[in-house]
Amino acid sequence: MDKLLLDLPEFQPGWVWLVGGGPGDAGLLTLYALHALRSADVLVYDALVGEDILKMARPDCLLEYAGKRGGKPSPKQTDISQRLVQLAREGKRVLRLKGGDPFVFGRGGEEALTLVEAKVPFRIVPGISSGIGGLAYAGIPVTHRECNSAVTFLTGHNANGIVPDNINWAGIAQGSPVIVIYMAIKHLGEIAARLMENGRLPDEPVGIVSKASTPQQEVLETTLGSCVQDVETSGIQPPALVVVGEVVRLRSGLDWLGAINGRILDSDPLGHRKAPEKTASA
Ligand code: SAH
Repeated sequence: MDKLLLDLPEFQPGWVWLVGGGPGDAGLLTLYALHALRSADVLVYDALVGEDILKMARPDCLLEYAGKRGGKPSPKQTDISQRLVQLAREGKRVLRLKGGDPFVFGRGGEEALTLVEAKVPFRIVPGISSGIGGLAYAGIPVTHRECNSAVTFLTGHNANGIVPDNINWAGIAQGSPVIVIYMAIKHLGEIAARLMENGRLPDEPVGIVSKASTPQQEVLETTLGSCVQDVETSGIQPPALVVVGEVVRLRSGLDWLGAINGRILDSDPLGHRKAPEKTASA
């Protein structure tokens, strides 16, 4: 492994690496992310980055938390960005580690633009976004040829903490067979209502994946019409992804993690072979 890492670009002092840490499972880190963890002087991390990933940092690396804790408001985005500038100017190798991918609902662009403005050199290291990799851990592919040739990624709330009003709900409901929603639990009722008002059926399958790819992963299979009630009854907690669409049905065939724990998978999850045969005409 170390031999492999030797060819990776040097993490130079005074640089910021803006790195995606993937959905949770440390095995999903990229080689660049691992290299950065082993080289960084300071690691500025978010709430979504797990302990086992933090433990991979160099033993003398300074760990700085930049997320929400105990319900207290998170540090202002500008403060975090300015802190990155300050640390880089001190000549440190600054690793900014974010959950998933830094450019997917991760404000990576905002932080990087502050670096550009301050003329701090940086590198972006994409990560596996939870909306793709996290769902794969639940056995739900975001595309499946038979179900969809388009997918939409949505955020359930905007910078003000409310359902974004600049979303064309009719366009998405009618044009996107699969919808993956980040940060959706809080406003699930409103989101489900908007999708149904615009033509999605109440019995459409919905998957809710909490703490995807971590040992605490939980998956709830429900429908658009019952998801709010089912979330409440099940007590499933954020961070969670909500996926709406026929691809959710594939989970009964593709829940590979469940299979490791003994689940018998269905090789015909969309029910083709099970369809009642037409009676042969005489
Ligand atoms: N940049 C991240 C997303 C940050 S927004 C990415 O690419 O994945 C934060 C939201 O991401 C959470 O509210 C939740 O909806 C989702 N999320 C991130 N990690 C998750 C995980 N392990 N399990 C479920 N949802 C997750």
